[in-house]
Amino acid sequence: MKVRVAINGYGTIGKRVADAVARQPDMTLVGVAKTRPSYDAHRAVDRGYPLYVAGNGTRAEFESAGLPVAGTVEEMVRATDVVIDAAPEKIGGENAARYHAAGVRAIFQGGEQAGVAEVSFNALANYGAALDKHRVRVVSCNTTGIARAAAVLTSKFGVESWDVTIVRRAADPAESQRGPINGILPTFHLPSHHGPDVQTIFPKLAITTTAVVVPTTLMHVHVNHVRLTTPPRDATAVVEAFRGTPRFHIFAAWEKVDGTPQVMDFARDRGSSDVMENVLWENGIRLAGPDLYFFQAVHQESIVVPENIDAVRAMFKLAPDAASSMAITDAALGLRGRSVGPR
Ligand code: NAD
Repeated sequence: MKVRVAINGYGTIGKRVADAVARQPDMTLVGVAKTRPSYDAHRAVDRGYPLYVAGNGTRAEFESAGLPVAGTVEEMVRATDVVIDAAPEKIGGENAARYHAAGVRAIFQGGEQAGVAEVSFNALANYGAALDKHRVRVVSCNTTGIARAAAVLTSKFGVESWDVTIVRRAADPAESQRGPINGILPTFHLPSHHGPDVQTIFPKLAITTTAVVVPTTLMHVHVNHVRLTTPPRDATAVVEAFRGTPRFHIFAAWEKVDGTPQVMDFARDRGSSDVMENVLWENGIRLAGPDLYFFQAVHQESIVVPENIDAVRAMFKLAPDAASSMAITDAALGLRGRSVGPR
């Protein structure tokens, strides 16, 4: 039996998650809900996804734009086993009561408060905690990137303390109204909210985060300093630990990937502008005694997509553990762990 999945909120995250659901062997995409007609709505119709009207949108608006409507969001919710809510932040929290009243399970995104769900989720870190749950929150893009790295480092070497500076992209590529277009903005909330968000998954992790916003739309970059409990003799063991883990892509120095522009170019060359893996640079991983330094880049638009899929699988116990769920998800999404070795 396939689990029926509906997407409420068809923007940056929702449209990518819808495509991912449509590719899974054990899930059926019931439809997607959108408030207003737009090129995104057209995209949904082009792909054959039933389109439902959400929020204060009307059927007439969509139909006058030539977009066929399958029904209201309430009808979509009644026809599904689980809703993945990808509406703008705070709206998911408001939608929670509606899902509960309809008796359907729900997945929320990182823009919602942790209390909206029974568990905050990252596949590699705490898949088991979401087994059979009814409300799960997939943490934000930055938290997902850190949680994946934390799953590797805590299990292989132990972590005494961790400081991260998050160099944040100013806007997603389609957000022409946001800035800055010239300037670097410190985030004066010190430390930033990301550390406590990571602790919703790793409650005992001694992590502190700070952030600056820079004028780019491509990716976030994390500058990490981790004090390891049992450090290996050299950085090679850390490189191999990351390289051997699904959803990590490690660039070798010879590949000449200087930064996020080449990562995006690499992504386009492999057929998409999305990078769902944590991106690390082999020559950007250094060990000095117990102190590990590394950079990682996070593609904000797509990194949480596979985690939403694994969350569905955990909630309906379609796979018993993270490794088996991630293997199905990654095969369906074409994530092949294509990191190459040193040359
Ligand atoms: P978005 O603005 O790109 O898309 C949201 C979509 O929901 C839009 O199509 C909007 O029209 C629609 N919408 C508005 N009101 C609605 C309603 N009442 N019901 C249903 N749909 C409604 O937002 P996004 O960037 O995709 O973010 C969605 C969630 O994902 C947020 O919680 C956000 O914090 C989180 N998130 C975003 C990113 C990112 O970088 N964009 C990364 C990770 C997580």
